[in-house]
Amino acid sequence: MNIFETVHDTEHEQVVFCHNKDAGLKAIIAIHNTVLGPALGGLRMWPYETEGEALNDVLRLSRGMTYKAAVAGLNLGGGKSVIIGDPAKDKSEALFRSFGRFMESLHGRYITAEDVGIDVNDMEYVFYETDNVVGVHQVHGGSGDPSPFTAFGTLQGIRASLQKAFGNEEVGQYSYAVQGLGHVGYELVKLLRSEGARVFVTDINQNAIDACVELGCEAVGLDEIYDVDADVYSPCALGATVNEETIPRFKFKVVCGAANNQLATTECGNELEKRSILYAPDYAVNAGGLMNVSIEFEGYNRERANRMMRTIYYNVGKIFKIADRDGIPTWKAADRMAEERIEAIGKLKLPTLGRTHRFPGRERSNQ
Ligand code: NAD
Repeated sequence: MNIFETVHDTEHEQVVFCHNKDAGLKAIIAIHNTVLGPALGGLRMWPYETEGEALNDVLRLSRGMTYKAAVAGLNLGGGKSVIIGDPAKDKSEALFRSFGRFMESLHGRYITAEDVGIDVNDMEYVFYETDNVVGVHQVHGGSGDPSPFTAFGTLQGIRASLQKAFGNEEVGQYSYAVQGLGHVGYELVKLLRSEGARVFVTDINQNAIDACVELGCEAVGLDEIYDVDADVYSPCALGATVNEETIPRFKFKVVCGAANNQLATTECGNELEKRSILYAPDYAVNAGGLMNVSIEFEGYNRERANRMMRTIYYNVGKIFKIADRDGIPTWKAADRMAEERIEAIGKLKLPTLGRTHRFPGRERSNQ
């Protein structure tokens, strides 16, 4: 792999390789774009088979964060970091503190949060060394579990999609097929049921299904979910469930859910368009978690978080308008919306005021 060429091709601003032999740290921090603000994105720990695989992952994920923050209307750029290692075996205080020191050397250009393989205790060690961590525990002035906000944001995306597809956004008048009843899916089902909607559900976990059946949902099999005669398909489990095999089975009119990377390929997004199935781009719909942590910059406030989630309705609506304006599928319109915002703000020649009061009310447990 030609590292410099790869970084150039993916338009990254900076890629930092962090190595500390004593602590066993091998990490990569990728800062994709900071035109809108500091690069925010989670820290992932994964036993990558090769260093090239880790680099590809961090480059891909950080670029995704740029688009997500831009479409969400946040003053944030995109970044991500990965630690090469097995989360079950290779964790230590020294590992995460050495990572925190590398982060601190970036002076806030990159802000991290929990991602796959990382838990709240690991983040605590990173937080010992740098302020630039979000999603910390509520006892430290953090925002806690983002899932209820992500679910509420997803509901706003559903409302915008219903408005576009049916000219009516009364959630209770439509039926839903929800796949995955975990942190986000279960909260979403509660919201849908509280509006009186008919909801079909599936999960690999029987307890999760039972909890939803108690709310009045109808359980269907894992594979049966794709054949359900419902208005909206809401993937809230895995990626790539909208694929060549499932699309021909869809009777749905709308695809709108919280799962990341729902389209197996962009061609699948084009196929939905051809079949007049409205796709609400996943990264615009599920931005609630990112919005929620972004509020930590100004001092976390739940009410503000709830208000912010409502903007997802307008963001998703704007994507649909761009798709109509330019005659393109909605997945492409979302990317275009992000690029247009970054370009417009990037052209501003006025000085910024800068942020001097980051993270008010934060305390560290080691102080
Ligand atoms: P979770 O792990 O709590 O829930 C996932 C659920 O999906 C679990 O109940 C699991 O049993 C179920 N599941 C797994 N495989 C399945 C299958 N084959 N069929 C049906 N169900 C299956 O995760 P979560 O936090 O609820 O996140 C759900 C999705 O939303 C993920 O794709 C995640 O990346 C995305 N997301 C979550 C947030 C957040 O705030 N939690 C934010 C943005 C995006």
